[in-house]
Amino acid sequence: MLPGAMATCLITGGAGFLGSHLCDELLRRGNRVLCVDNLETGSLANIEHIRVPEFVHYNVDITDPYHVEEPVDFVYHLASPASPIDYLRLPLHTLKVGSYGTHHTLGLAKLKRARFLLASTSEVYGDPEVHPQPESYWGNVNPIGPRGVYDEAKRYAEALTMAYHRQQGVDTAIVRIFNTFGPRMRPNDGRAIPTFLRQALQDRPLTVFGDGSQTRSFCFVEDEIRGLIGLAESGHHLPVNIGNPEEYTLLELAQTVIEVTSSRSEIVHEALPVDDPQVRQPDITLARQILSWEPTVGLREGLQRTIEAAGPEALIGSLR
Ligand code: NAD
Repeated sequence: MLPGAMATCLITGGAGFLGSHLCDELLRRGNRVLCVDNLETGSLANIEHIRVPEFVHYNVDITDPYHVEEPVDFVYHLASPASPIDYLRLPLHTLKVGSYGTHHTLGLAKLKRARFLLASTSEVYGDPEVHPQPESYWGNVNPIGPRGVYDEAKRYAEALTMAYHRQQGVDTAIVRIFNTFGPRMRPNDGRAIPTFLRQALQDRPLTVFGDGSQTRSFCFVEDEIRGLIGLAESGHHLPVNIGNPEEYTLLELAQTVIEVTSSRSEIVHEALPVDDPQVRQPDITLARQILSWEPTVGLREGLQRTIEAAGPEALIGSLR
């Protein structure tokens, strides 16, 4: 591709939380966008504001073979249930999207001679014994626990991506996405930030799992999307962490949400989910080196921008 030329980007999972922001940003940068999404966990509401001829939505289940007629330059493969509520409800579907869905999408990228980016996850590190987690760490995943369907689907998808690259010559990239937040997260998807926001905005108790000493790192969606595009447009093939290295305990997160929303909520504690990782923090040395990427939006600002962009009603009810 010549720099500045309009590219055609196919996004699987384009009607989801991250996918819809990626559609917006790639269109804003002057590209054509083909969104492939069967709306399993995404929503038309995430893309209904996009009304330009450069955007097309195909309602296709990628676990079946699929094809698009026109040339494609970039394939962003994001389709997969992503929140624990979804993959625990859809265990076989999650494994099929990671396996068949990734096969079909890599096959399409091969046919089109497109650059392929796999959306992998920090969950490939499992409950890590190394902290923070560099890409060279192989992980500590329980394959047979309830979360195994997601973690192992992603690990398989990474192996498949490297095999298509090494054996079939497909130009591939792998991004390991760490917890990301922002407008269009669903208020009831079970993840910490939308749950705490929903509870705080209603002055209801914030439910922290365990004693709340487990840590997470939260990346604002705008930073995450910039990282994904930067990696897709680089020539790098091995996995790259994209996430915000600022680390918070869940208790600190709950307190920050209460402050930002000026809520009167108190904090209560609930049982820890099975195999809940104790720590989670990306080592982003590689992204800094090869992409000159680093996050620019901190937790407080990101929370404020999420509330402003979505509106309190949407964060309590049907979040957009
Ligand atoms: P999401 O559930 O909002 O989006 C996933 C999209 O994939 C949905 O629109 C869904 O309808 C679509 N999809 C699912 N199965 C499909 C199928 N068989 N055919 C076609 N479309 C299908 O989730 P998200 O948070 O936007 O996550 C997007 C990607 O990023 C996922 O691959 C996820 O594993 C990865 N990721 C996200 C995070 C995060 O913090 N949001 C963290 C790590 C990794």
